[in-house]
Parts: sequence; structure tokens; C-alpha cells
Amino acid sequence: MSTDLRFVCSCGAVTGVLRGVTPKTVNRVICSCSGCQRYVRALGRDEALLDEHDGTDIIQASPASFELKTGHEQVACLRQTRKGALRWYTRCCGTPIANTMDTPGVPFMGFLVGTLRDAGGPPSSDVIGPVLARINGSYDPADAKRLRATTGALVPMLFRFSRMLLGWRLRGAHKRWALDWQTPIEREVQITGAVP
Ligand SMILES: [Zn+2]
Ligand SMILES: [Zn+2]
Repeated sequence: MSTDLRFVCSCGAVTGVLRGVTPKTVNRVICSCSGCQRYVRALGRDEALLDEHDGTDIIQASPASFELKTGHEQVACLRQTRKGALRWYTRCCGTPIANTMDTPGVPFMGFLVGTLRDAGGPPSSDVIGPVLARINGSYDPADAKRLRATTGALVPMLFRFSRMLLGWRLRGAHKRWALDWQTPIEREVQITGAVP
């Protein structure tokens, strides 16, 4: 059975739905790269969205499974380096929406788990699956394996994600790579240092 997860920004103006979520339809990782950290910090959401390793819990999904329902005019996008990921957020209240690449050739959207809602609260592992790998962070070697922060977790996750991406692309997700937003996309280019 799959679940439709709701996206609702803090003020309620922007809403959307991520359809058909199961552990098999999304790829869950925790990313501790400086770009993800600056994204949530720039929006003032670090307390809610960064874990103890300054990581963000993300599920990567096909753009074809996400539909923005209301608040299209509030959608904005920031970018931290000239070729960096596009980091979408709501202008009304600064809620992160998703990360995407700036190319339809890599059609995925990375949603922050803490911004998605199941019936009562944030989605559980039963719905979105376990964290498959922790990337770009430093972890205590004694804990790394348990936390899936090793090469042994990274390689299978990347292999799995590549296959998912290919499948999404074959099913036409790249035609909807930048959401199904009809309004012009505003991009703020914020050059604030190198992102690894
Ligand atoms: Zn809002
Ligand atoms: Zn990251």
C-alpha cells in the first residue's frame, strides 16, 4: 500500500502532495553537506531540520509524483553556487520545498522529511523506508556502520538510486523535472562560498 504525503508550508499558503510513496518509490538519505546545511540555515530552519550531525533527512522522489496544489506564486528558488543544486522554498514563510538539479537529465526532487506530513505527523519509516546511507558527514567510526555512514552503505544506495533515476526518466519524469509549476521561476543566485 502506498501513501500520499502532504507538503504544507508553515503559514499554509503553499500546499502540495507527494503521491504513491512506499519504501520502494523513494530513496532516503541523510546529507550533511554544507550546501544542505546552508539551505536550511538561510531559511532559519536548522533547529527543526538538522540532526545532531548537521544532517538533513531527505527522500528523493520522481518529480512526476509531486503536485503543487496551492501557492504557486509563493515559490522561490535559491542557489548557492553557479552550478549548484536548485533549492526551492516558499517566499511566504521560508519553508524549504525540495532540492533539484538544474537539468532535466537528472530528474529527481529531494524533499526534507521534516516538511512532509502523513495523516498525523512526519512520515514513519514504514512509509518512506529506513535511512539507506549518511553522506558528507563525519561520524564516529564506532557508530558509522550502525548509522549506515560507510562506503558499504553508500555504494548500494548510489546503485539503487541510479536505477530509480533511470526508471523515472524512462517514464517521462524529466519532462516535469522542475515541478509542474506554471509560474515563472525566480532564481536568486547567492554565491556564499564553495559547496563540496
Ligand atoms: Zn508559507
Ligand atoms: Zn547535501
